[in-house]
Amino acid sequence: RVRMEGGNHIASLPKSEQRAVARKLRIEQKLPQALESGAIQPVFQPQVDMKTGKIIAAEALVRWEDRDLGTVSPAELIPVAEDCGMIGAVGEVMIEAACRQAVSWQEQEIGIRVSCNSSVREFRNGEMTAKVRDILTRTGCPASLLELEITERFAFEAEAEEAIMHQLKALHEEGVSLALDDFGTGSASFRYMQTVPLSKIKIGQEFIASFPTNSKVGKIVDGIVRFGHSLDLTVVAEGVEDEAVWKALEESGCDAVQGYYTGRPMTAGQLTERLQSQQ
Ligand code: C2E
Ligand code: MG
Ligand code: MG
Ligand code: MG
Repeated sequence: RVRMEGGNHIASLPKSEQRAVARKLRIEQKLPQALESGAIQPVFQPQVDMKTGKIIAAEALVRWEDRDLGTVSPAELIPVAEDCGMIGAVGEVMIEAACRQAVSWQEQEIGIRVSCNSSVREFRNGEMTAKVRDILTRTGCPASLLELEITERFAFEAEAEEAIMHQLKALHEEGVSLALDDFGTGSASFRYMQTVPLSKIKIGQEFIASFPTNSKVGKIVDGIVRFGHSLDLTVVAEGVEDEAVWKALEESGCDAVQGYYTGRPMTAGQLTERLQSQQ
């Protein structure tokens, strides 16, 4: 450790942490330009209906390739964007790109829904509903083709902040559907589930991986599926990587899967080819 005078906190950190902090700063500095230039774009991962084998929706996942930074993963990008107040701008770019894509698919008579991840911070300034409405208007995307994914992390805050709950309800009334992402991996609040107008739950991949081999996990997944259905929710399993998991999920009555087994995140062009061939 090096101690420096003059309030240089970074210099008092171990070398590896100094590098991590420096990278974060670079990400933060380059983010506005990357958003502006279109360097930040979605890839799309299909959600496949278990009964028909057809793609029913695609999740938009943020991607950023930068010449000096290399690949900036969502795991790196999202926390930085949240901390520096740019998550709203990231969300806007992603939702707009996803809506444009949904419209393009609709024009090709491929009516699939696009799903975008959202961070609870995007709801903080109370402008999420207006922002989404504006994007739908300028892209010409019907609200019914857009889904927003929220997480269990939302639960606490939405219960605490009525303004967030209000926006979720307004989006639902607008025709946008809401999905609860990574279900079971955080702290699900049943009270929250009773108030938020959800259409879908996505079982977190941490559960799914050990599903066929761990009988306890198997019972939990079976239970989640039945629980979801009893609330009239579509149940999607995330992180499905092989046939064994697919088979086990089929037995549990799960509706759809999203995972490497049925398709990795891919470019819009690649997914369009797949969608055309399933027509
Ligand atoms: P998520 O929404 O749960 O997305 C699923 C993640 O699991 C994606 O990682 C995807 O590539 C990965 N995945 C999909 N299938 C499989 C599989 O079969 N096996 C394994 N091991 N992994 C699989 P990704 O793209 O790195 O995204 C990570 C997280 O970052 C997302 O988790 C989401 O919470 C967040 N995120 C991504 N894009 C956005 C965005 O535009 N806005 C916000 N707020 N968050 C985003
Ligand atoms: Mg998601
Ligand atoms: Mg997830
Ligand atoms: Mg995840």
